[in-house]
Amino acid sequence: MPELPDITAYNEALERVFGGHALRRVRLASPFVLRTVQPRPAELEGKVLVGTRRIGKRIVLVFPDEYFLVIHLMISGRFKLAKPDAPVPGKVGLAAFDWVDAPTLIFTEASSKKRASIHVVRGEADLAALDPGGLEPLGSTLADFAAALRSESRTLKRALTDPHILSGIGNAYSDEVLHRAQMSPLKITSKMDDEEMARLHAATEETLREWTARFSAEAAKSFPEKVTAFRPEMAVHGKYGQPCPRCGSKVQRIVYAANEANYCATCQTGGKLLADRSMSRLLGKDWPKSLEELEERRASSRAGGVVGPTPAKGQTEPGAPHVHPRSRPAAGSPRSRRS
Ligand SMILES: [Zn+2]
Repeated sequence: MPELPDITAYNEALERVFGGHALRRVRLASPFVLRTVQPRPAELEGKVLVGTRRIGKRIVLVFPDEYFLVIHLMISGRFKLAKPDAPVPGKVGLAAFDWVDAPTLIFTEASSKKRASIHVVRGEADLAALDPGGLEPLGSTLADFAAALRSESRTLKRALTDPHILSGIGNAYSDEVLHRAQMSPLKITSKMDDEEMARLHAATEETLREWTARFSAEAAKSFPEKVTAFRPEMAVHGKYGQPCPRCGSKVQRIVYAANEANYCATCQTGGKLLADRSMSRLLGKDWPKSLEELEERRASSRAGGVVGPTPAKGQTEPGAPHVHPRSRPAAGSPRSRRS
């Protein structure tokens, strides 16, 4: 899902291309994408784009008389520029926005689950109602940041990605922030001391600023059409099994619900492997507690020609998995030769 750095870059590009131009026509290809009844999108027609804003992970196009067009890209919503009055592409096309003397802006969603949305609202109060209310992390004071994170006792991964606590951070940048801060995704916010909170605050600022600067520079050159949550320059996000850029250890993951957190055990958890609830249930005492143990198991499985460790007496049933299936190399990955 596009997060704060991506949304900021989108907003800058949208202002660059459409700022000062009048919106000529709104074409909705899907009846479900529009989530508001009043004002009707046609009321925006003829109005000039005067700016953009970000609310959480939403893009806000600002028009005169407090009219706002609010777009939530969710996971796979994207924009592309097309020739004026170009047709909305079938299947992935949600809407098109035609402008006076500017390209047409096409809004797509490459997913069968249509979750991206458009709200048309009038008035600051109705706009504010769409704001989950999390603290804006960039430019926040350490005191406000600490208060937001300590407002509920949560794991750091959940707290950083909760839009009611912090604005604009999702799965990708939370992984990157935690790696920079060298903190476990499962660290509990209420147990963090002041030094740790300062380190996390600094890591959050640095990570978001660095990525925003990178995307802004790209968006100044060309309209961002290749927005992805997985970038080769990232340290751990989407890098499961690849070497950590700081220490070279293989990046680990925990899978929970539909999400995955990536982390470096050496840099972030003192070498401890994190087990999520489903893994713990599946493996019980079998879950390797440390990188060393995992490596020992792999070494013994290579030496013995069997997958998994030699079961200790009474520890496992025959046929039970010794290593969580997710931690096994995927077919085609560089590590698949080991299995
Ligand atoms: Zn590392």
